[in-house]
Parts: sequence; structure tokens; C-alpha cells
Amino acid sequence: MYIMLKTRQASKRPSIDQCIPPSGARPRRAGRPESAVYNSIALRAGAHWVSMTAAARQARTVRIAMVGAHLACLAALETGVSAIALKVAGVAYLLRAFGVTAGYHRLLAHASFKAGRRTQFALSLLGALATQGGPLWWVSHHRNHHRYTDRSQDLHSPRQRGFWHSHMGWMWDKASFETAATNVKELYRFPEIKALQRYYPVLIVGQALGFYALGALLASQFPDSGTSGGQMLVWGFIISTVCLWHATFMVNSVCHVWGKRSHATDDASTNNPLVAFLTLGEGWHNNHHKFAYSARHGLQWWQIDLTYLSLRCLEVLGLVCDLKLPRKVALS
Ligand SMILES: [Zn+2]
Ligand SMILES: [Zn+2]
Repeated sequence: MYIMLKTRQASKRPSIDQCIPPSGARPRRAGRPESAVYNSIALRAGAHWVSMTAAARQARTVRIAMVGAHLACLAALETGVSAIALKVAGVAYLLRAFGVTAGYHRLLAHASFKAGRRTQFALSLLGALATQGGPLWWVSHHRNHHRYTDRSQDLHSPRQRGFWHSHMGWMWDKASFETAATNVKELYRFPEIKALQRYYPVLIVGQALGFYALGALLASQFPDSGTSGGQMLVWGFIISTVCLWHATFMVNSVCHVWGKRSHATDDASTNNPLVAFLTLGEGWHNNHHKFAYSARHGLQWWQIDLTYLSLRCLEVLGLVCDLKLPRKVALS
């Protein structure tokens, strides 16, 4: 790119800086074609993009994608809604939430139970479809969170950098993509997990196309369903993903600010029933920081933990085993 820019300047063409009026303050030269202005803007944006570090580019991509997804929710005003679209959105939310809580969190990050390669892949795939990052990136950051909880090295501590940063802002920061994932080395043994990380963007685009195709198919085969490709894309993928984002992110933000502390841990983690309800049990976060190895986060009978209950069902089916529990809970 550097060579390309030098060549352009050597051939007496206007430099990028000459082409772009700063903040639009400099008047455009008379007679200059409109297309030249747009080309210059594209050139300058392209040069800026190339000059950014890989981490900065990733952070910028995440920011654009997240803001875009929130704005895209408004497309529901155009597509309308149907019963089938709401059902698909609900199922997509629950399955992918389970992928994050059981797959990414309790299995890959904490090894709080055992599963065969196929079950591990299926749970991790569901986690990846939640559009919260590839498994190696997600698990590495989560292990760092437990290692440095609410200290300066904790990238999403509301105590260190404020509520908004802990909720979403940390993923818009290039620092979130500069850390080498050296704390997940044992996961590199699994090529299928590495593949989920490598092809994560393809997976997300494919998922969006899949939802669109599902809606289009239903519309053609069952016209009375009242759905369409666009409607299914908006409700099944975009809205359910944005809802799941905020539910999951509340574990990092809300569960380190509001709620009760049952255990005296060296951090500000709390148990929050609302977050536990929205995240299938992850909101019993103070319990989790106390017993990070435990497959069960809701430790009292009234602390509903749908992820743990589901894992018990999978245990009965022989798909998972060796669910770890805190000693006194196991005894009771
Ligand atoms: Zn925490
Ligand atoms: Zn954890």
C-alpha cells in the first residue's frame, strides 16, 4: 500500500490529504466531478484501514457489526412478525444460550464436566453460533477474567473501567484482540475447535443465510405462515442474537455490580436472579466465582440453573459425565 501511495504521488496525482477537505470545511474546487470526491473518500478510508493494526481492524469490525445489528432490529418494522418467526427466535435464543453456558463456559473454559468429542463439538458449535466470538478467543478472555477478576488486567470489570465498558465497550477496544491466547493451549489439541475459531466469520454469515433460506422456504411451502426470508432473518437471527448478547454481557456488567454476595470472594461478583433467568443459570455468578470448577452454578434449591438441569438430562442420555460439584453440595 505504501508503494502504491508513493506511485500515485510521483505521478502528480493529488495526494489523499489534498483530496479530502478536513471536516468538509474546505470548499470543493469548482468543476471537480462529484465522483472524484467519493473516490477520494474511499481512498482515504482504505488507506486508514490498511494502516490500522490487525487488532484495531478486528475491534473496528466488531463495533460496526454490533451497531449494525442493533440498527437492523428496526427492520422488523418493515418485515412484520409472525408466530413461526417468534418461535424460531425463541428456540435460536435458547439453543445458542445453552451453547455459550454449557459449551463455551462450563465445558471449554472450566472443564466442569466431561463430554465426548462429538458432544463437545456440538456444544461449541452452538456457542459459536451465538455470535460472541470464536471459542479460543472467548475462553481465553474468560480465563483471564477469573485470573484477574476486578483488577486492572481484567478487561471487562465494571469496577475498573465502568459499566458500559464491562458490558460491551471492551470488545470495541483493540486491547481485546491483542492478547495472545496462551492460556487455552490444551484446546489446540482439537482441530475441530480450532476450525470453529478460524472459520467463525464464515459460520456467522452462513447462519444468517440459513435463517433467510428457512423463512423463504416456509413462505413458499406454507404461505399462510405469514413469514418471509427477511422476517426470519430479522427475528430468528438478528433480534434473538442481540437479546442473547445483552443477556450474556450482563453477567460481566450487572453481576459485578448488583445482586447478593453469598460468598466472600476476592472480587465484586454477585448472584442476580434476573440475569440467572435470562442466561439459563449464569447469573449465580458469585457462586461461580467461589466454585469456578462446578458444573452447577445455582447452589440452593431455589436458585434455578437450567444449564445444570439440562446437563443432568444429557448425563442420563450418556452424552456427558463427571459433573463436578462443590463438596458440600455433592453431599447434600
Ligand atoms: Zn465474573
Ligand atoms: Zn467462568
